[in-house]
Amino acid sequence: MLDDFPRYPLTFGPTPVHPLDRLSQHLGGAAVWAKREDCNSGLAFGGNKTRKLEYLVPDALEKGATHLVSIGGVQSNHTRQVAAVAAKLGLKAHLVQESWVDWPDAVNDRVGNILLSRLMGAHVQLVDAGFGIGIKSSWEQALEDVRSEGGIPYPIPAGASDHPLGGLGFANWAEEVRQQERELGVFFDTIVVCSVTGSTHAGMIAGFAGQDRPRRVLGIDASAKLDETRAQVAKIARNTAELIGLGRALRDDEITVLDGWAGDRYGIPVRSTLDAIRLTGRLEGMILDPVYEGKSMAGLIDLVTTGEIGKDSTVLYAHLGGQPALNAYSALFTD
Ligand SMILES: *Cc1c(COP(=O)(O)O)cnc(C)c1O
Repeated sequence: MLDDFPRYPLTFGPTPVHPLDRLSQHLGGAAVWAKREDCNSGLAFGGNKTRKLEYLVPDALEKGATHLVSIGGVQSNHTRQVAAVAAKLGLKAHLVQESWVDWPDAVNDRVGNILLSRLMGAHVQLVDAGFGIGIKSSWEQALEDVRSEGGIPYPIPAGASDHPLGGLGFANWAEEVRQQERELGVFFDTIVVCSVTGSTHAGMIAGFAGQDRPRRVLGIDASAKLDETRAQVAKIARNTAELIGLGRALRDDEITVLDGWAGDRYGIPVRSTLDAIRLTGRLEGMILDPVYEGKSMAGLIDLVTTGEIGKDSTVLYAHLGGQPALNAYSALFTD
């Protein structure tokens, strides 16, 4: 049972759910709503990782951790959220920041997320290594460094995903959606969510699978490595389903990761990404980033436009945060 797992409060509570009327009108059908993880917390702008960390923190505290050790790209939203949580708990953060994105912005390693992590007192270590969600030697070294200083490291993998408790935050999100639907008198037959390290989408799949009314939970790949994303989502969804006592195996058709909007590389926006960012900004005043949310919104727009998501559908777009990274992409928005 999900309720059996301790949850350390880092968020404001249930996140806002609201209609995107002008976007829906522009698309000519499907009622599109958003649920806002980008404003879920007062800790350094929050985001989806903060919600996941609510379930990892009790484990870290129980193990007597002195340091939260984590890894991500230079403009990782995840490591920024780990830095904020460490500050809040009075722990240290040791962050391995790899060059996942070959992005030629002069201030890429100075602004946005990495600036915020430094400002919050995290130990930020820049490492020259490419994109990947596996275990790295720089990561092992970071854990060893903490130990050799007499600290107790608590390892948090990229995106807090490949961790036994990583899917719980968004399994809980599914339950929160069910309650909000009751209050609002709506039913979201389709959920659209960005997927990269996988536990956001996977947690949702596990959480929704236990509900009476079936719905589609569409993950939009933003890693440009579809097979890896799909395998990771399936693994975490099944693990999470078992943890929360779903009582049945997840079917393959419950795990849907779609490609077509990631472009060629993680972290590099393509035309459809930028179009989606501008459209959403101009119609709704809702800000999306070029790495994740711009790509998932591009997916939503195309799926509605092509009728893959029907005109009579009620769609919930999961906004997972990520705006600080926009500062490293200023050259794309000079006009
Ligand atoms: C990490 C992140 C995602 C992807 O979530 P995963 O759980 O890694 O699949 C999407 N959007 C934003 C803003 C993120 O920071």
